[in-house]
Amino acid sequence: MTRPPTAPTRYWLERPARFFPVDAVRADFPALAQTVHGRRLVWLDSAATAHKPRQVIDAVRDFYARHNSNVHRGAHTLAREATELLESARARIGAFVGAARAEEIVFVRGATEGINLVAQTCGRTRVGPGDEIVLTTLEHHANIVPWQMLCAERGARLRVVPLHDDGTVDLAAYLGLLGPRTRIVALAHTSNVLGTVLPVRAMADAAHAHGAVVVVDGAQAVPHLRVDVTALGADFYTFSGHKLCGPTGIGVLYGRTELLEELPPWQGGGSMIASVTFEHTRYAPPPQKFEAGTEHIAGAVGLGAAVDYLECIGLDAAHGHEKALVAYARRRLTDDVPGLRLLGPGDGVGVCTFVIGATDPARVADALDTAGIAVRAGHHCAQPVLRRYGLTAAVRASFAFYNTHDEVDLLVQALRTATRRL
Ligand code: PLP
Repeated sequence: MTRPPTAPTRYWLERPARFFPVDAVRADFPALAQTVHGRRLVWLDSAATAHKPRQVIDAVRDFYARHNSNVHRGAHTLAREATELLESARARIGAFVGAARAEEIVFVRGATEGINLVAQTCGRTRVGPGDEIVLTTLEHHANIVPWQMLCAERGARLRVVPLHDDGTVDLAAYLGLLGPRTRIVALAHTSNVLGTVLPVRAMADAAHAHGAVVVVDGAQAVPHLRVDVTALGADFYTFSGHKLCGPTGIGVLYGRTELLEELPPWQGGGSMIASVTFEHTRYAPPPQKFEAGTEHIAGAVGLGAAVDYLECIGLDAAHGHEKALVAYARRRLTDDVPGLRLLGPGDGVGVCTFVIGATDPARVADALDTAGIAVRAGHHCAQPVLRRYGLTAAVRASFAFYNTHDEVDLLVQALRTATRRL
């Protein structure tokens, strides 16, 4: 590993202790090898979506080329192969996040659909007039709007846990909000803006003491932390495949077996039934009860391949590299870009969200794009948390294990140039 030419000596210590072969890993990602505006692409938008290694692209192509069939109900060879591929992906993904059984893994379109499924099934059965749903200020809109819709329908109300100035959750306030009317606690494992990692286990224990169900939005956590849904004490845990190097349009809702068994189905149709007459339908057991219609089989196969890929490159080493990278980025951004203000603690989970004085974040992102650097600017689908810090928009550079220290240097350099011009 060579030392970055522009970084002063003190940054050298923030290199990962364990060797991670980032150059070899990058060679697996075709999208990273392209140029944009004549510059090598620097992808710092992995919190929006991560790029896919060729192992995932190949798995999806191979599925369509050789095994394409509907699942569970075909009496021929390809149907058996497709079913085996889907169910094997379910089992590997379940093991990846610590589920006790493969049947606890429901395939959905993504975290948004996972949360809506819980709101429409668990929420509708458990929440009534005067009941309360507790959220935190740092939630993504996907973990706010479905609960608001449920509250409007059921005559319930949202209670919102405030944040400390440093971006951590006010736990004393959280405990104060829990009470006999709390039916559901819905929280992000990791904030997509601040990078805060919430103490899910402690918060889940407190919620359970009040008889509430705990729903965790793991969209930004699963790509950056080793997640064990059972150890976390989550009743439901959801994430999107596309942020984990898997295909778009596929995600996972983990649910504890007892809860999945007692919940009513969400959508009706084929695949989710045991028997149908015009008088009565008996539903299939979970997870099929929640997978009506033809699902995104190739997506699930691709997500299975993504999980295999991450285990194969060494998840812990990849996370170690990412953590060192984010620490380095935060330090360099603060020290070397005049007027830059970082939001949140970062907690080493991939996001660096910032504003530079009063400069419009969209103009900053445009200037970076001209330099081949992709970041996101705007409200990041989390308007309440930006408002908490007096902002309506910010720039977010987000990192994955395939990013390099040199790319951080390019970002800093481009920001220094841009701020002189804007
Ligand atoms: N939750 C968080 C914390 C997110 O960052 C996102 C996406 O950015 C989502 C939920 C929604 O994910 P999706 O659009 O894949 O459903």
